[in-house]
Amino acid sequence: MKIAVLSTNKNLYSTKRLIEAGRKRDHEMVVINHKRCYMNITSHNPGIHFAGRPIEGVDAVIPRIGASVSFYGTAVVRQFEMMGVYSVNESVAITRSRDKLRASQLLSRKGIGLPITGFANSPDDTDDLLDFVGGAPVVIKLLEGTQGVGVVLAETKKAAESVIEAFRGLGANFMVQEFIKEAGGADIRCFVIGDKVVASMKRQGKEGEFRSNLHRGGSATLIKITPEERSTAVRSARVMGLNVAGVDLLRSNHGPVVMEVNSSPGLEGIEKATEKDVASMVIEFIEKNAKQGKTRTRGQG
Ligand code: ADP
Repeated sequence: MKIAVLSTNKNLYSTKRLIEAGRKRDHEMVVINHKRCYMNITSHNPGIHFAGRPIEGVDAVIPRIGASVSFYGTAVVRQFEMMGVYSVNESVAITRSRDKLRASQLLSRKGIGLPITGFANSPDDTDDLLDFVGGAPVVIKLLEGTQGVGVVLAETKKAAESVIEAFRGLGANFMVQEFIKEAGGADIRCFVIGDKVVASMKRQGKEGEFRSNLHRGGSATLIKITPEERSTAVRSARVMGLNVAGVDLLRSNHGPVVMEVNSSPGLEGIEKATEKDVASMVIEFIEKNAKQGKTRTRGQG
């Protein structure tokens, strides 16, 4: 098969590993920078061009779309879908999971454990919002944040009010969440492919940090997850419609709660912590599922 990894940088660990794994399994692997793609949006012959030439013959794409290019990146994925190319994660699913509020609403609708979360538009409702998530300490997060940026722990009501006022002043959208103290600054990343958790790791924030993001100096170790955590991760990916997902869970007093479902989960942390060849598993999944024109939505939505 000819498989394209949509990535803005061919030297990134995840991109390199997917290319290497695909070549090992005798596929023709290419990296396409989605930011440099341009599209012909006509109904008869939808196409994608790159550096003056049409892109042809691609059987499947693996989107690795960074948060800062979600809008354009998902448009390129949608265009591939319209051309009948199989995308391991569909554009609608990526869009769903990128919006933290929308994702939380969809997950809660399916009864998946979440931290108590509040969202309001009007500044008049701050008091009540803080009350129903259980009062301080609370976590306040920007809807558009990634890698822990814009995630703030407000230890007192006064601090929470100041942060909320600041975010509102900037016109930013945010949610307010119950602080899961018992997680102890650790979360669990479950790497889901299809209907299985193929690898999982525990990430621990550095001393004095409640955020466990590896980009913020957290460290990763192997962990054995419970059947409940396993099924929560698989169901969360399914609700989002993602075939490949990184589901982040916290261990709370009321069971596993989902922090985030990531549609372009990094491979470096998980492969190094677990010594598993996750890249090859992604390629195997494509081999089993990709057929010309098999994308379910074919770019609708
Ligand atoms: P990002 O998408 O920016 O990584 P997250 O919502 O995943 O943002 O939060 C980053 C990290 O902060 C999480 O992995 C977790 O360790 C910690 N965290 C976030 N929300 C909470 C919460 N409600 N209670 C406890 N820790 C939290």
